[in-house]
Amino acid sequence: MRRSFEFLLRPTRKQAAALTACMEEHRELYNAALEHRRIACRKAGVTVRYGDQSADLKHIRAGDPDGQGRWSFSSQQATLRRLDKAFKAFFARLRAGRTSGFPRFKGRGRFDTVEWPKDGDGCRWDSQPGHPTATFVRLQGIGHVRVHQHRRVLGTVKTISVKREGSRWFVVLSCDDVPAAAFTATGTVAGIDMGVASLATTSDGDHIGNQRHLAASADRLAAAQRDLTRKKRGSNRRRKAVTRVAALHAKVRRQRLDSAHKAALALVRDYGVIAHEALNVAGMTRRAAPRPDGEGGYLPNGAAAKSGLNRSILDAGWGVFLTILAHKAESAGRELIAVSPANTSRTCSRCGHCARENRLTQAGFRCTACGHEAHADVNAAINILRAGLALRDAAQAA
Ligand SMILES: [Zn+2]
Repeated sequence: MRRSFEFLLRPTRKQAAALTACMEEHRELYNAALEHRRIACRKAGVTVRYGDQSADLKHIRAGDPDGQGRWSFSSQQATLRRLDKAFKAFFARLRAGRTSGFPRFKGRGRFDTVEWPKDGDGCRWDSQPGHPTATFVRLQGIGHVRVHQHRRVLGTVKTISVKREGSRWFVVLSCDDVPAAAFTATGTVAGIDMGVASLATTSDGDHIGNQRHLAASADRLAAAQRDLTRKKRGSNRRRKAVTRVAALHAKVRRQRLDSAHKAALALVRDYGVIAHEALNVAGMTRRAAPRPDGEGGYLPNGAAAKSGLNRSILDAGWGVFLTILAHKAESAGRELIAVSPANTSRTCSRCGHCARENRLTQAGFRCTACGHEAHADVNAAINILRAGLALRDAAQAA
């Protein structure tokens, strides 16, 4: 099994400057190679290939020993391959008859990853194994950079990437032969309802993945974005505001990933079969339409102005969560069943009565037919489980 591990880097000031230079010169290389392909194509009708550009790299390095010559040859090849991939995707889209953007030049701040395709080649993970307290990664041209290694690395390190997020640096290890987590088989089944307050609620009544922190970050992000629009273009304050927005975006992404990993792990550990709602991604990102009240105003449509961004951030987490859950379920030999989410939240899980009026509030459910009362998400999760098991029975009977 292949898996990646990501850690925060703690570069010295000098190393941070070298990382910035490394990133910048990989960006220049990418742009130069793109320009080369464009001109060759336009002026001479010639297609330049990865092999040609990789061969040119030797001359570029020899001619610029203090610039391009400083960095790892293999990492530069990886950047050229990245461009090659962009072109292949572009031509594939063209062939499929789709209107398609030509690969673009990467502006400052639009090139944030450099890859070293092989551990030991211009880079070395755990480069000072004898060090009593810290872990280091050695990167050619940069040095031994300290790593905040908050968890154990499993398997064999294959590729090493460095990634910039705002003012922070991360190292990403892609590892092979990671043992599939040894989970015991469990015969238990659960339905899960994905929500806003909790990422997931199970049919057993557990709320997993409290989203309060994420919502708080989303609020701060919304405030920072409002703040940004008030700043004058080109001003120092605006630059600072942009940095802050970028940092908050990164924080939201990390919180979401972290919460999704934890929730998925908890589910896979406890249940053998998990039924979940099939996500309608198009419907999810669509904003609630305003409802005119006929008197020139608007009725509330369930989407308060403030909650717009907040809500979309929480929503976006569901797709991430399901992707991670699918990976973990597969490696642990668990079964996932996607069911249609239609009516799962307004149907009574005891008597089956389906009505909008059953749903009192965001969290409260009370059946208008039989009087059954439950947490709305738990009620929905039970319906999802039932639908999932029905699908499973049908599939097994067929
Ligand atoms: Zn009922």
